Amino acid sequence: MKILVLNCGSSSVKYRLFASPGRAAGSPPETSAKGLIERIGEPGGEAADHAAALQQVMETVDLSGLGAVGHRVVHGGSLFSAATVIDDKVVTAIEGLVPLAPLHNPPALSGIAVARKLLPEVPQVAVFDTAFHQSIAPDGVTYAIDADLAARWQVRRYGFHGTSHAYVARRTAELLGLPLDDAKVITLHLGNGASACAVHGGRSVATSMGLSPLSGLVMGTRSGDIDPTVIFHLHRVAGLPIEEIERSLTRGGGLQGLAGANDMREIQRRRTDGEPAATLAFDVYCRRLREYVGSYLALLGGADAITFTAGVGENSAEVRAASLSGLSALGIEVDPARNEHGDRIISPDGARVKVCVVPTDEEAEIAEQARKAVET
Ligand code: AMP
Repeated sequence: MKILVLNCGSSSVKYRLFASPGRAAGSPPETSAKGLIERIGEPGGEAADHAAALQQVMETVDLSGLGAVGHRVVHGGSLFSAATVIDDKVVTAIEGLVPLAPLHNPPALSGIAVARKLLPEVPQVAVFDTAFHQSIAPDGVTYAIDADLAARWQVRRYGFHGTSHAYVARRTAELLGLPLDDAKVITLHLGNGASACAVHGGRSVATSMGLSPLSGLVMGTRSGDIDPTVIFHLHRVAGLPIEEIERSLTRGGGLQGLAGANDMREIQRRRTDGEPAATLAFDVYCRRLREYVGSYLALLGGADAITFTAGVGENSAEVRAASLSGLSALGIEVDPARNEHGDRIISPDGARVKVCVVPTDEEAEIAEQARKAVET
């Protein structure tokens, strides 16, 4: 069955056509076409709007025999705990979640509307970034704030990067020959956005992002965890408007805020040159990672594996080594040669906790989940 995966951003459409999703035999799904249409709606952009962009996709790729379209949807709120075949009710529900994801859900809704119109015979499936984390117990998603306020305004932890954490945890179990059903894996998705997840038996039991993708780890341009009083202080004492504080924490925080660059490669280069701001940024980034790993080891009661993924996780031997240094008493070690060499398993032979590097593939996971959703 062919599956088309669509990831619609505010000004871009990323697509990938899978000829045969499904890794039942351990084989990766085959990609038969992929592409990115950018600067939608901008002067000189590649398409006037999402409808024109999708029309382009349909003219470019051979969609004969298409079994489903899988749409990446960032926020599924508390309503969706699995990939869901889209009907009018599902669209209304995703629209209702726009206040929780004002930047991300509207472009996904445009993509869904256009794809339903252009491909009315093909089942459309919404695959949510939040769904994997719906398995987290109430004590792991509840903020200790006024319970009535929280309930009224849907304030709780949702978590994101769910398709990546689910995929990477499963691939880690496959790599290590562990039954997924009782494997304990800590997955570290370190891209421009970054989050940690504790996975037990293929289910998320804790994750570092919350109501929004701002909390948790230090990211390219997002602060990660801070004391909420930072916001009140900047508003009341520094006189900054709330929108400016939000912009600062989401686009001017993280590595960008600390050292003026959001790219870990640049931070590493400047750290090697001995620049203090880049050194501090790197250290804050790695310490936060170690704090989350420790916390998830405690929650899981130990782990079989810790897995690094995404841009930084897959490529930065320095971050992998620094973030897990000093943990040998907990059975966690990184073998320097394996780490530098880019091996998949970078812990020494016989280590109690295996440390792995597993490339993520969110689109393959969306295709796989879309296939399952239409087959059931
Ligand atoms: P992603 O969001 O997964 O595409 O990750 C993007 C980020 O990965 C970039 O902003 C870089 O900071 C980081 N990255 C990519 N390649 C490397 C590398 N070789 N070393 C360190 N960081 C890298």
